[in-house]
Amino acid sequence: MRPQSLNPLFVPATSLKGLGPRFGRLVEKLAGPHTVDLLWHLPNGLIDRRFAPKIADAPDGRMATLTVRVDGHTPPVLAGRPYKVQCTDETGTLDLVFFHGKTDWLTRRLPIGASVVVSGRVEHFNDQPQIVHPDHIGALDDKATLEAVEPVYPLTGGLPAKVLIRAVKEALVRTPTLPEWQDQAWFNRQGWPAWREAVAQVHAPEDESDLKPDHPARRRLAYDELLAHQLALALVRQGQKRRRGRPLAGDGRLRQRVLDTLPYALTGAQSMALAEITADLGAEFRMLRLLQGDVGSGKTVVALLAMLAVVESGAQAALMAPTELLARQHLQTLTELVAPNDVYIALLTGRGNARSGSRPRSELLQHLAAGEIDIVIGTHALFQDDVVFRDLGLAVIDEQHRFGVHQRMLLSTKGNAVDVLVMTATPIPRTLTLTAYGDMDQSKLTEKPPGRLPVDTRTVSLERLDEVVDGLARRIDRGAQIYWVCPLVEESETADLAAATERHAHLTGCFGDRVGLVHGQMKSPDRDGVMAAFIDGRIRVLVATTVIEVGVNVPSATVMVVEHAERFGLAQLHQLRGRIGRGTDASTCLLLYASPLTNQARARLRMIRETEDGFAIAEEDLRLRGAGDVLGTKQSGLPAFRLANLDAHADLLDVARDDARLVTERDPTLTTPRGEAIRTLLYLFERDAAVRYLRTG
Ligand code: ADP
Ligand code: MG
Repeated sequence: MRPQSLNPLFVPATSLKGLGPRFGRLVEKLAGPHTVDLLWHLPNGLIDRRFAPKIADAPDGRMATLTVRVDGHTPPVLAGRPYKVQCTDETGTLDLVFFHGKTDWLTRRLPIGASVVVSGRVEHFNDQPQIVHPDHIGALDDKATLEAVEPVYPLTGGLPAKVLIRAVKEALVRTPTLPEWQDQAWFNRQGWPAWREAVAQVHAPEDESDLKPDHPARRRLAYDELLAHQLALALVRQGQKRRRGRPLAGDGRLRQRVLDTLPYALTGAQSMALAEITADLGAEFRMLRLLQGDVGSGKTVVALLAMLAVVESGAQAALMAPTELLARQHLQTLTELVAPNDVYIALLTGRGNARSGSRPRSELLQHLAAGEIDIVIGTHALFQDDVVFRDLGLAVIDEQHRFGVHQRMLLSTKGNAVDVLVMTATPIPRTLTLTAYGDMDQSKLTEKPPGRLPVDTRTVSLERLDEVVDGLARRIDRGAQIYWVCPLVEESETADLAAATERHAHLTGCFGDRVGLVHGQMKSPDRDGVMAAFIDGRIRVLVATTVIEVGVNVPSATVMVVEHAERFGLAQLHQLRGRIGRGTDASTCLLLYASPLTNQARARLRMIRETEDGFAIAEEDLRLRGAGDVLGTKQSGLPAFRLANLDAHADLLDVARDDARLVTERDPTLTTPRGEAIRTLLYLFERDAAVRYLRTG
């Protein structure tokens, strides 16, 4: 249950003073539904009204608060002209200027002869100082309140700044004092304010430096948010691990036979990753491990050997791919590597398909439930509830970006204490891995199989398109296969498609029926059909929008053309280039760009030209674009932080992760005084799910 102290923060924001249903709805859209959401809605600017000069000393363009006497009113003589109010102090005269001013209101607020305090931006019009539409008009005794600094908040259309400011003020009044959840020694060392004080400070900036992410109050709140997130991950993980796994060490007999017939030796990185994985499999706890490796780094064989260890110990393994085509390709690869009598590997497609490969689906389901199938390969169809295992021991999830972080856990509910291995070909910068996966264990394939020729990457202006096409003609004559990727036109799939269709027509004009087209709006059997034709060489030039199946392996493809490469992200270009250079022939990647290039685009293209190291590219991508953009929240399942900024607060993320790990080790039930305070923190950041996990786990 949520601690009572937090209740005032979880009442609807609409109950705040001055926020009726109308503004309430806007605030909800802007910040969120609860009072606490207003606390998290931080100012991004400020207006300083402390500057209180005499009229003659008020510089042009500066915000100022002036004490003046009202001398006269000049209503407009012509419609459309402004209403002017003349004011003076001992140094000069000032006009207050109102467009569409109502005489009634103005004479009441600014009676002739009265002394008033006005605040606004001073401008000079024909050398005459004036303020157009003062932000504030007050009586003399308002002077103190007017001469203040006002926070500026991000707004949404229809919501007046003053209304939001008042609502935040009210939320701050309702904000309780909470127990300190940070580690005392760490907290003291930082010199940070207590939580309530920190919240008050971030909403009361005094100057620009108070708005920066390195302000102590902002850092404190960022740390709180990161800590809550890391704790939630750590608690869930602890729950996973505590549910005892079982040792699935295997005796090595199946693995040995594969290694004996493998046409190559494992790379050092592969052996290392495999050792880490099999150590986890053999241990009492459940494995939760991420295998990162560039496209072509050889993850498949590692996954196979891991699955065989599980099969050796009598359990089953599942390999989940993002698309059916990839699932089929995995089936083919694995069946080639494993002697047929040793292991029963099957492909299971979705419920809609009566047959799954060579057998009826129902028969495969029986074989799976009976434990006859050792390794099942499929798509997310493996989640379907008619899919029952006799004893699922290991779930391997390939290219999990397509699945979302939480979905990966679903497979593990299909068995008892299932070990999970997630494979990703998108190297993720370290800080982001930490965020998305918490302290998931990691193995990295940092080394490519030997004998790979580097890809020759070149940037070519689109103006030289004809030369490029001529060059491709010669390549095709010599047997090459070519990918031609058309860019994503923002926000419009139809426009993408138009560009790709046009390019397809153009290239068909040059190369005839050896040109194929795949795009996102095709039905997947059609798309698979074209891909299959490309795989077996009937199609030689494959024009594609960015849908080229992640991980598809066509070793004979040696050319990758990316049109408008300047529109692609670094990681995306790297992924695309990874489609080639998989065979023994030299490959070329042509990045066609339209001039002029922005500095950022130029930097991206240079980086891609200069290195093929996916991990280095990922870090550079993070540097160029910032964390928010690197793995769009939607596809990565990255949490959206409201207070923490992964670029500015990366150092805090490391500490929060270690802190969370210590807490879950020392106080796994959160019952010490600090543990109690941490519960409050988790509820404050709405990580209740993790707390619930704690109770039942
Ligand atoms: P990934 O899934 O990581 O992109 P794959 O597992 O598809 O990479 O491997 C890419 C290619 O490299 C495959 O053709 C595979 O047979 C080959 N390969 C894998 N490991 C090695 C190795 N140690 N030595 C040589 N070739 C390898
Ligand atoms: Mg792969």
